[in-house]
Amino acid sequence: MNSRRRFIYTAGLAVAGLAAGGIPALAAPRPRAHTVQAGDTLSEIAARYDVSLAELKRRNGLRNDVIRPGQRLTLPESDALAAVVAATAELRIQRGRWRHVVVHHSAIEDGNAAAYDSAHRRRGMENGLAYHFVIGNGRDSPEGGIEIGPRWLRQLDGGHVRNATFNATGIGICLVGNFETRRPSEKQLATLTALIDWLRADAPLGARPKFTVHRWVDRNHTVCPGRYFPSVRLRLRYA
Ligand SMILES: [Zn+2]
Repeated sequence: MNSRRRFIYTAGLAVAGLAAGGIPALAAPRPRAHTVQAGDTLSEIAARYDVSLAELKRRNGLRNDVIRPGQRLTLPESDALAAVVAATAELRIQRGRWRHVVVHHSAIEDGNAAAYDSAHRRRGMENGLAYHFVIGNGRDSPEGGIEIGPRWLRQLDGGHVRNATFNATGIGICLVGNFETRRPSEKQLATLTALIDWLRADAPLGARPKFTVHRWVDRNHTVCPGRYFPSVRLRLRYA
């Protein structure tokens, strides 16, 4: 298999509610565990956190549905994130290397990881797709799905900013869309925050990467990820 063309598609995330005024709400961080209360059943807990009963049991090594008050259950990652977690577990990651998460928009509504990979190669980038992850908008890849780029699978520097330090230490995440003309969708934001939450708290990086966006790194050169992307809200969330 040609690893250069290897992209992993994952399913989208469950959708959080709309905030007042129709602005997409940022999904609250998903709890990582649930302590069983008297009267809880396993199927109710699975429904409450929108996870499958089978996955909840698998994750906790349960052979049947019997649970007891006070028992602590680990909750599975979101569906969109599951493939990223699995792929990353196979990688050797240099501890402390990834110190930033840099968010981009693609500035066009078409495309996916494969299309941007071709475009970046045509522009002379020998490692192709400049980002580590691409989050789809439902047009050429699933809305809110994550595509894992070869640069993440091979742990290569990104090529997503003009700054060599940030390319060497920044995880590049691109959301498909032009956020100079519209907001990212709720599903895209839910997946993005799930991915960043995981990268900051649970991924085996040996460091907690800081959140930033392209235009804060390449000042005066770009509007990326666009005026309708909630850059400031996310900076506050990850402060
Ligand atoms: Zn950008």
